[in-house]
Amino acid sequence: MQILHPWTGSLQEYEQSLSDPDRYRPGHCPQCQAQQALIGHGFYIRTLVDCGWDGAIRVRRYLCRLCQRTVSLLPQFALPWLRFSVTVISLFLSPVSSKA
Ligand SMILES: [Zn+2]
Repeated sequence: MQILHPWTGSLQEYEQSLSDPDRYRPGHCPQCQAQQALIGHGFYIRTLVDCGWDGAIRVRRYLCRLCQRTVSLLPQFALPWLRFSVTVISLFLSPVSSKA
């Protein structure tokens, strides 16, 4: 399953935060409610289009020792059902100034 991670920093800051698995490690399993911290389980890669960025980001993945299911921490700017990030979409939605 995927947990939406309320990330407010930049993509670069997000990449840097990935080097520390303890920083956002879930303290319990959201799928079986095991009251023990999940263990780091590497990353998966997903594509993302953002302003000045069209490439892949790493998404941190954790594993529950009890139910053996994985939980990935998807940053908020890469909503699961969207390849385009929220930033780009908001640009499309911005009102266009008109001289008429
Ligand atoms: Zn579990």
